[in-house]
Amino acid sequence: MNKRAFLKLLSTLMAMPVVSPVLAWALGEKLKNWAGNIEYSTERLYSPSSSEQVRDFVGKQAKLKVLGTRHCFNGIADSADYLLSLKAMDKVITLDPSARTVTIEAGMTYGQLCPYLDGKGFALHNLASLPHISVAGACSTATHGSGDGNGNLATAVSALELITASGEVVKLSRAQDAVSFQGAVVGLGALGVIARLTLDIQPRYMMQQYVYENLPLSALKEHFDAIMSSAYSVSLFTDWQKQRLNEVWLKRRIEEGKSFEAPMEFFGAKPATKNLHPIAELSAENCTPQMGVPGPWYERLPHFRMGFTPSAGKELQAEYFVPREHAIEAILAVERLRDQVGPHLMISEIRSIAADDLWMSPCYKAPRVSIHFTWKPDRTAVQNLLPIIEKELAPFNARPHWGKLFTLSPRTLRAKYEKLPDFVDLCTQYDPKGKFRNEFLQRNIFALAS
Ligand SMILES: Cc1cc2nc3c(=O)[nH]c(=O)nc-3n(C[C@H](O)[C@H](O)[C@H](O)COP(=O)(O)OP(=O)(O)OC[C@H]3O[C@@H](n4cnc5c(N)ncnc54)[C@H](O)[C@@H]3O)c2cc1C
Repeated sequence: MNKRAFLKLLSTLMAMPVVSPVLAWALGEKLKNWAGNIEYSTERLYSPSSSEQVRDFVGKQAKLKVLGTRHCFNGIADSADYLLSLKAMDKVITLDPSARTVTIEAGMTYGQLCPYLDGKGFALHNLASLPHISVAGACSTATHGSGDGNGNLATAVSALELITASGEVVKLSRAQDAVSFQGAVVGLGALGVIARLTLDIQPRYMMQQYVYENLPLSALKEHFDAIMSSAYSVSLFTDWQKQRLNEVWLKRRIEEGKSFEAPMEFFGAKPATKNLHPIAELSAENCTPQMGVPGPWYERLPHFRMGFTPSAGKELQAEYFVPREHAIEAILAVERLRDQVGPHLMISEIRSIAADDLWMSPCYKAPRVSIHFTWKPDRTAVQNLLPIIEKELAPFNARPHWGKLFTLSPRTLRAKYEKLPDFVDLCTQYDPKGKFRNEFLQRNIFALAS
């Protein structure tokens, strides 16, 4: 096929709702997740452009799984049968200034939504480290940022529109369907296709980001609560070496009429003299501005800028949530593994997340602190290390991130979620034959015994 004919075929295929095996074949690529460590088990990818097409498709398929922006590191979004991408459904439906809500199509990313909201004078309460991810995919896995007073991103959802296994449209809202709504928001993609989401918004705000270097571990031990509550959002980055935390990122909201001077020392840490990447050796070019330069909320809350590769690019990730009251013990338990962890780690991040009432959220009913690991992309080494970390964190009832790597047995995992039986019932109500269940969900959520 000559180049012109190939390009014509490509543009024809792109315009069709079914972006299919033919396109994958033409491009000669298998469909993979962002990190490249998961090759999806099917190349059949359907990309509708309307709710009607979604309903029609869902009604006809025996099994499928919705794919967001492919940023999970495990098989949670995989399917052996059919993948459904809502990428083309990425519009704002309505912005209601008096109710302070925005309703969007579920294919939208934060990178698309945030500048729109800001332009209309509104903002979200928090963001993850990167804006590249879809709102629906992030909320489905309880994706979070940091901040003692900030719930995970799913806590902003006030209503959702679900297309269930039969193709029926179900609307659930915080106000009217409290119980099933709390089960459905962090839904792991197991209840159906989220077609629309309504999110709480607030007036836009400005922020400043300050980075400090070399926080002594002893200071963290002594002043953990003071440190984590010292700004709207606080992230601690560490390689677990030398009894110190390499970087402290403080994101503060600028309060009108209140002046603020960043201290010259922060619990023994010193202010950075230039913008930094969390992995100090990497260029800060892909990071959001620091050094106290004021900017809109959506250009300070994430660590990484839209339009640039977030994080390191070639990496694996794992993350565990421990109850706030065990944070220091859990951090020290990981620090004791420094010699084993060190050679395989790029960086770890410690964040705090407020309690919520979403059944499958790791922060259900209790605030938690998350301990995150960005690993070098050596799957075997990571696979061998995770059980060691999980064993050390077991006394603290650590829950893994739904979208990252973990090796906990399904039985252990299930025992950590008191609302799991209710969640299974809810899934069965909307999806009695398991149309949206994949291998990950079957093994970790639905299997009766491991
Ligand atoms: C570089 C990087 C940085 C990250 N930073 C953070 C961070 O700061 N905090 C954090 O908590 N996590 C973080 N993550 C993890 C990431 O936020 C989650 O994996 C999130 O789920 C990604 O969203 P996605 O759309 O890419 O999900 P996908 O992997 O595409 O899908 C995730 C799940 O959502 C479901 N889903 C997606 N869309 C729909 C829909 N419309 N209807 C029903 N189900 C749906 C899928 O079926 C699947 O179960 C990071 C990941 C990467 C790669």
